[in-house]
Amino acid sequence: STPAAIAAALSAGARRGLLMKGGAVLEEAGRLQTIAFDKTGTLTEGKPRVTAVLAFEGSEREVLRLAAALEQSSSHPIALAILARAGEEGLALPPVTEASAIGGQGVTAVIEGRLLFLGSIRAAARRGKVSPEQAKTLAALEAEGNTVSVLLANGIAIGAITLRDEPRADARSGLAQLKEKGIRTLMLTGDNARTAELVGRDLGIEVRAELLPQDKSSIVSALRKDGLKVGKVGDGINDAPALAAADVGIAMGGGTDVALETADAAILHGRVSDVAAMIELSRKTMANIR
Ligand code: ADP
Ligand code: MG
Repeated sequence: STPAAIAAALSAGARRGLLMKGGAVLEEAGRLQTIAFDKTGTLTEGKPRVTAVLAFEGSEREVLRLAAALEQSSSHPIALAILARAGEEGLALPPVTEASAIGGQGVTAVIEGRLLFLGSIRAAARRGKVSPEQAKTLAALEAEGNTVSVLLANGIAIGAITLRDEPRADARSGLAQLKEKGIRTLMLTGDNARTAELVGRDLGIEVRAELLPQDKSSIVSALRKDGLKVGKVGDGINDAPALAAADVGIAMGGGTDVALETADAAILHGRVSDVAAMIELSRKTMANIR
């Protein structure tokens, strides 16, 4: 009977790390026409590494110490990378007050009497002063594929940290498999356009960059209003609203608790090709039922 075939497909999926929350999700997965991917932690490993620390004022060690202190309140992959580097260098972190993470932008807190901010160049330029010369240096680092986080102290740029996050090993082939199935793929990222375009060209995916978390969900909603069936794949860090807005929200690679709650499905082994496998499983199962 129909329910038995669906139940069998759901458990076959689960055995290979493709979790779907029920038959309706399984059915819907095979109908997806556009799939939007988050970049960090989804198309990339999500384990960026610090490639350089720049000091515009004071020492590089001091920039890293303050940046790491700020990142203690964040679970963003950038935060984990900066804390790891500070740990390797044996830095003792100062006390922090009024810490808060600003989704898709960065983190802010009061440290040693100064209001500090660490985040994207765009967010930093809105909140303080980044000189034309500093902006030029940082843009060149982005064009090399780095994500750049600027450190502001009382609104003045005092340094920057550059990071690099490698694409997942199967990202290019996984996206190609989706295209073979007639599915349009799209990368939605809060990262800067220069870095994002570089990654997009490398992986063969259309790119929408410099998005805020709400922009990601607006794009998903707009595609659905055009009558398309839209999937969203992400890790739930800054993209939970977009996962919720999609016809099928898919949490990737373990993901955050938020992602698993919001998502309709999860891919446990962090393979981009598993998105194609989920669609294949759905299409085969539904074809056999009909
Ligand atoms: P993505 O779409 O790649 O997952 P996010 O939306 O999570 O990116 O973040 C967008 C940008 O905001 C990052 O590339 C980074 O510049 C900045 N940012 C966000 N959170 C942090 C943080 N905790 N520390 C430093 N920078 C951050
Ligand atoms: Mg993210």
